[in-house]
Amino acid sequence: AAPLGVRTLVVDGSADACAGQVSELVVADWNDDEALEAFAARVDVVTFDFENVPAATAERLAGLTNVFPNPGALSVAQDRLAEKTLFRASGLNTPDFEPVDNRDDLVRAVARIGAPAILKTRRLGYDGKGQFRLKTADDIDAAWAALGEAAASVGLILEAFVPFDRELSVVAVRGRDGAFRTWPLTRNWHVDGVLSLSLAPAPGTSDALEQAAISHARTIAETLDYVGVFALELFVCGAELLGNEMAPRVHNSGHWTIEGAHTSQFENHVRAVLGLPLGDTGVRGASAMLNWIGDMPDPTPVLMVADGHWHDYGKEARPGRKVGHATLCAPDAGSLRTKLAAAGAALGRDEQVAPAVDLLG
Ligand code: ATP
Ligand code: MG
Ligand code: MG
Repeated sequence: AAPLGVRTLVVDGSADACAGQVSELVVADWNDDEALEAFAARVDVVTFDFENVPAATAERLAGLTNVFPNPGALSVAQDRLAEKTLFRASGLNTPDFEPVDNRDDLVRAVARIGAPAILKTRRLGYDGKGQFRLKTADDIDAAWAALGEAAASVGLILEAFVPFDRELSVVAVRGRDGAFRTWPLTRNWHVDGVLSLSLAPAPGTSDALEQAAISHARTIAETLDYVGVFALELFVCGAELLGNEMAPRVHNSGHWTIEGAHTSQFENHVRAVLGLPLGDTGVRGASAMLNWIGDMPDPTPVLMVADGHWHDYGKEARPGRKVGHATLCAPDAGSLRTKLAAAGAALGRDEQVAPAVDLLG
């Protein structure tokens, strides 16, 4: 926002929120009506970079000022059941699923869907948290022991475990005037349910598949009257695309756009919610993004690479926590492969970069 001359005021529940490094911070609880009212009076537009802002808070703010994306879109994207129902209604198939409210539902759902399957919380899960993978029906007790307690507060959903060929995301932006753009498809690799590596443009994607993915993203955005950046996570199974989830915000699989595209997802999100013209989503070449999970490695190997970029979020190290990322950019796939292999070796992260190195080879 800052280069566009836009000043920001960030609300967060904790005084050491990262945003405080670059913006004025309002420390307030999401349910603190008085604080929210005072905040709304000071701003022209409210948006969020975190999908678990309570929809009721977004509703309240929408009664006081402009909120983009709209609270209805936020609430659909917060609930895996509503989200998957919308995908199917929009013509995007999904893994088979069943809502689960109690243990009997789980037994019935496993009987119908079969195993392997994944039991997930409908709401508040992220980075693979709030999920239990059932290898066989014998895992029902373990799954219920792990997540049964959450059924009452956040709801559960059982999904068929899809043996997908690959994972892609569409990072897209829709303006207040309905203008719609996407960055090229991104190929993603997860480890233990957490994004580890992204590559864009996704190599080996047919035009037909890309057009289908973009068209699904557009239909969903138009149905929700969505304004801002969002990501649609897709599984590719043969020639078919299945919708996994959508993130109603800038997305980790779009971080490469900061250096790899003419306009980053962050800038276009700000442009969209302010009603400014959207920026060019074209790329400068090929990009790979590596997530740093748990703690930050030594930055030197990445800083020494031409067009290598380092992002340290200033977060405390914690197992499983995303604390930063690096992006390597190159004019073409071949030179990206060379850089990525060299940086991976120097970082001691050959395993993390291997899927992209193999694919670019
Ligand atoms: P995010 O951090 O992307 O918000 P999340 O916690 O919401 O993650 P999902 O996106 O549902 O979780 O799942 C994380 C990853 O687990 C997926 O990207 C995919 O690799 C795997 N996964 C999830 N659901 C399925 C499924 N039904 N079949 C196969 N793999 C799956
Ligand atoms: Mg998610
Ligand atoms: Mg996901």
